[in-house]
Amino acid sequence: MRRSTSGPAGSKDQLSPITWTGIRRLIALAVPYRLLLAIAGVLTLVSTGISLALPLISQRAVDYVTRTKEVGELDRIAVGIVGLVLVGAIFGYAQFLIAAFAGNSIVKDLRLKLFRHLQRLEVGYFDKTRSGDLTSYLSNDVSLLQTTLTDDLVKLIPNFLTLIGGVVIAIVIDWRLTMVVVTLLMAVMLFFVIFGRRLRKITREGLDALSDTMGAMTEALANIRLVKAFAREPFEDKRAREKMEGVFKLNMKGSIWEGMMGTVAGAGFSLVLLGVMWYGGRSVLSGALSLGSLVGFVMIVTIITGPMGNLASLYTRLQRSVGAADRLFAILDEKPELPDVEGAVGFPSGPGAVQFQDLSFAYVETTPVLKGLSLSVPAGKVTAIVGPSGSGKTTLSSLLYRFYESQSGQILIDGTPIRQIHRQALRENIGIVPQEPILFNGTIRENIRYGRLEANDAEVEAAGRGANVEEFVKGFPEGYDTMVGERGITLSGGQRQRVAIARAMLKDPRILVLDEATSALDNRSEALVREALDRLMVGRTTLVIAHRLSTIQNADQIAVLKDGQITELGRHAELLEGGGVYADLYELVKT
Ligand code: ADP
Repeated sequence: MRRSTSGPAGSKDQLSPITWTGIRRLIALAVPYRLLLAIAGVLTLVSTGISLALPLISQRAVDYVTRTKEVGELDRIAVGIVGLVLVGAIFGYAQFLIAAFAGNSIVKDLRLKLFRHLQRLEVGYFDKTRSGDLTSYLSNDVSLLQTTLTDDLVKLIPNFLTLIGGVVIAIVIDWRLTMVVVTLLMAVMLFFVIFGRRLRKITREGLDALSDTMGAMTEALANIRLVKAFAREPFEDKRAREKMEGVFKLNMKGSIWEGMMGTVAGAGFSLVLLGVMWYGGRSVLSGALSLGSLVGFVMIVTIITGPMGNLASLYTRLQRSVGAADRLFAILDEKPELPDVEGAVGFPSGPGAVQFQDLSFAYVETTPVLKGLSLSVPAGKVTAIVGPSGSGKTTLSSLLYRFYESQSGQILIDGTPIRQIHRQALRENIGIVPQEPILFNGTIRENIRYGRLEANDAEVEAAGRGANVEEFVKGFPEGYDTMVGERGITLSGGQRQRVAIARAMLKDPRILVLDEATSALDNRSEALVREALDRLMVGRTTLVIAHRLSTIQNADQIAVLKDGQITELGRHAELLEGGGVYADLYELVKT
């Protein structure tokens, strides 16, 4: 099992400061919904305007009523205020719904964008990243962004406006008191700026730890048979617990900071309010301030602390979101497979001869796998590649598919270098029957149809007949519509292989790669698979990656791969006669 403790490549970079580029990229995600968000913003503005008007109205009302003692007027004003509050609430609700719509849309878009991008990354990326980690990015990291991108963005401007408007109104009421209040509030805000960065770092670490944990758990569940066969449930429990403890600690650390920031803000604001009451109360008693002004002022301070609190928690959430966005953008910055070259052509229409020319390749620079390998694979014939395990046989087929790019040399199909061919056309015309046939959780029919999505039922079943799938499907009550379970687990190895062969048959490729199963099947199953393969190979250029020698004696040519080069080439009998590596290998198998 491959272990990776890091996130996507590049995600372990030093924590970069929140840059405008980062924020711009975040905001860019919301751009397609700018109209909706603008409407939501306007609605918020209206409800904000209403809440700002309330203190002024109240100030006037209290002063008027204390002066004139007209209770009836007070009642009328009270009813008016209730009406305003109701309108504000309705606007607030509409704003909430619009923001929720935009938010969910953005999250949907982002998940699809990430999935689209991930699918187009080089195969090498997936060699170093666990699928469970990626699932975690797609679910947890994306969710974290949602609130910021909608609620917070929508409220940002109204919050600022409320704050500025509130301060202006406060100055109108009593500028000296306002100065004191603003200074105190700024002190509270400073606290946020200082500690927000810390929170972002913790969030980032927490997400890294979470995806690592999810990766490990997903892997254990995906390999449940291995886990059970070794009775390693307690071991996996322990491993999961240790990882989860790490996540827990980081999450708690985050909550401690976040909670502290919230508490400081809450207490700070309350103290400021108390200060206003105390100082204002004294001013009223000394006659320097009217009672109405004090009421209005207290209300305005309550209103100002609202957006201040919002801006503070927005800042906190922004820190968290940028922590998550860092990782998502790191994935989006991973380079996808090279684009098709300019003037790329379709798949050559020739007979399908393959030429490996002076091919050199290494997965890791220090360990070359292929060293200037050359081999001609004649069209319509069967070429078998044999060689010790780890000599690079499978690698050769990966290069033909362009899963990896060779460092030097090239592969030609009918004289056209594969780099000049549209990647999709290339892959559509090369069929592969892998060592371990991979089936999706679906019906047998769906699994075969994956070879050519537009094939009709009759074509799918014809391929099923050709690949001896029908032979066992007949026995299932639901026939081709039988579900095969995750990775085709409910089928036997031989049955899975035949489904994979049917899939390749339906694809009808010009060139075929058979990565032979290493494990032997029972005789009957083997014969059925063999027969299916023989039918599949007719008229196609076939490259057999032979892990066993028993099946390739009839190949038109056998190439021996050793030390990164083809060391022997010929038919079975010729190679035996030659007395080289092939003869040695053959002797070994025979005994
Ligand atoms: P074969 O099919 O002949 O058994 P492979 O082509 O699978 O051999 O592997 C050739 C060599 O490349 C081996 O040493 C193997 O460890 C290494 N290798 C295979 N796949 C990868 C990979 N994705 N990343 C790094 N090294 C790899």
